[in-house]
Amino acid sequence: MKALVFHEYGGIEKLKYEEFPEPVPEETEVVVRVKAASINHLDIWMRKGIRGPKIPIPHISGCDGAGEIVKIGKKVSGVSLNERVIISPGINCGECHYCRTGWDSLCPGYHIVGYQTQGTFAEYVRIPANNALPIPDNLSYEEAAAIPLVFLTAYHMLFTRAKVQVGEDVLVMAAGSGVGSSAIQLAKLAGARVIASAGSQEKLDLAKRLGADETINYQTEDLVQKVKNITGGKGVEVIIEHIGGENFKQGLYALSRNGRLVTCGATAQPVIDLDLRLLFVKHINLIGSYMGAKWELLEVIKLFQRKKVKAVIDKKFNLSQGSMAQQYIEERRNLGKVLLIP
Ligand SMILES: [Zn+2]
Repeated sequence: MKALVFHEYGGIEKLKYEEFPEPVPEETEVVVRVKAASINHLDIWMRKGIRGPKIPIPHISGCDGAGEIVKIGKKVSGVSLNERVIISPGINCGECHYCRTGWDSLCPGYHIVGYQTQGTFAEYVRIPANNALPIPDNLSYEEAAAIPLVFLTAYHMLFTRAKVQVGEDVLVMAAGSGVGSSAIQLAKLAGARVIASAGSQEKLDLAKRLGADETINYQTEDLVQKVKNITGGKGVEVIIEHIGGENFKQGLYALSRNGRLVTCGATAQPVIDLDLRLLFVKHINLIGSYMGAKWELLEVIKLFQRKKVKAVIDKKFNLSQGSMAQQYIEERRNLGKVLLIP
């Protein structure tokens, strides 16, 4: 089969579109013919070799994808050939305390498709059968491929971790990102007032189209002051953050008393100094969040089926142009998800 492969860490020049052995399913696995995949920052970090765990080399990235089942392992039941499926990116043991209580991503054996396994940037991908979830009829393969990682992350952050309530003020940082554009829609659905921040007018316009009530351009406006103005001096109850650095610190000042800041990443700067007095005097809750559970992805898919949320797709590239597509994202030119089509 054809796949987008890297044999060593480095820049986009390390990505080769080449022949790779076609996967064969183990007894509890299926093979999916990939119809569409989407790129996440995780794919770029792993290609650069700046993330922790060991990955199989040569490596095919891609955590997100959708397609049809073409091979089924001997012990698999409940799926059929040619079935349209969306790939759930988290693989967990299913037996430990965390798995049994619905916290898949805390499983000590947790790993991600296309990270610790070969991924979706190929014509075929091998996954545990449990990770192949049916696609609702109203969703195309392309829409389905744009959903899992970003919507799962945003759902877990907002509902499971921050427990957002009707009428609360939610600040979504990096509104033009995949997690940001998902979080805006989900927070609106929860009945929150959404304030979106981003560094360009184009991204803020997108945020408005997705339902944001207020927007802040952090390049040209004082984020903390504007949040205070919008909220009558109170600050926001919830912040959805994944940039880190100065953004994170400003977030602490933009929070209300008892506020919750949820972080799922640090794309700009992972290390900060923190004035602890701010934390205890204001009763600030700092909450970490990593991926989410399969039951949460099923909830997200239900929302898509009912047309309550939509995938934000910016651009499609042929899989053979995968290096161009990753460069497009690295230059931060994308406004929504970028797809790769095998
Ligand atoms: Zn487990």
